[in-house]
Amino acid sequence: MSLPVFVHNIVVPGFGRGSKQLDCPTANVAAIEHLSIPTGIYCGLVQLLIKDESQLQEEEGHRQTYDDMLNSLPYQSPVKPMVCSFGYNPQFGNDKRSLEVHILDRLNFNFYAAELRVVICKKMRDEQKYGSLEELKNAITNDIIQANKDVKQFAMLSSNASYFLPPSASTIDKLH
Ligand code: ADP
Ligand code: MG
Repeated sequence: MSLPVFVHNIVVPGFGRGSKQLDCPTANVAAIEHLSIPTGIYCGLVQLLIKDESQLQEEEGHRQTYDDMLNSLPYQSPVKPMVCSFGYNPQFGNDKRSLEVHILDRLNFNFYAAELRVVICKKMRDEQKYGSLEELKNAITNDIIQANKDVKQFAMLSSNASYFLPPSASTIDKLH
C-alpha cells in the first residue's frame, strides 16, 4: 500500500491512558485491520464530521464551545493537519494495532462516534519504546513540530472534493 492512504471511519474510545494529560489527545479510528502500511508515526490531513448531538461531548471547563458546537450541527470541519500513530504502542505493548489521530488544533470538545476522514501522507519515524513517559512526551512534542512542517507539502490534497466535504460555513468564523 503506497502513500497517501485514505482511511475514514468513526472515532471509538481508546485505551484511556490519559493522552490528554500528555497534551496529545488521540482519536482512535475504528476497524483499521485492513490497513497494510508499516507501523509508525505519520503525518497528514484530517476532516472531522459530526452529524448530531450524540456524537458531541462536552469537555470539562468548555461549556461555551460545546454550546456553540451544538448550534452548528451538523458540523463539517475544515481540512486540518494531523499526526498519527499506527501500530502497537510499544510503550504499552498492545496486542492489536490501533490508528490514533491527533488533530493539530485545540478543539475543547470530544467527538466519540463522529466520523474522521484521514489522509495518511508521510511516515515520520518508526514506533519506539522510550525509557520514561517524559521521553515519550518529548518525542510527541517533536513529532507535532515536525508534522506541522511536513504536512505543508500535502496541502493540495485538502481540496480533494471527492473525498473531503465542504466545511460548514457558519462554523469557520466562530471556531477559527
Ligand atoms: P481515548 O483513550 O478514548 O482515545 P484520549 O485521551 O486519547 O482518549 O482523547 C481522545 C479523544 O479526545 C478523541 O476521541 C476526541 O473525542 C477528543 N479530542 C479533542 N481534541 C482532539 C484533538 N485535537 N485530536 C484528537 N482527539 C481530540
Ligand atoms: Mg486516544
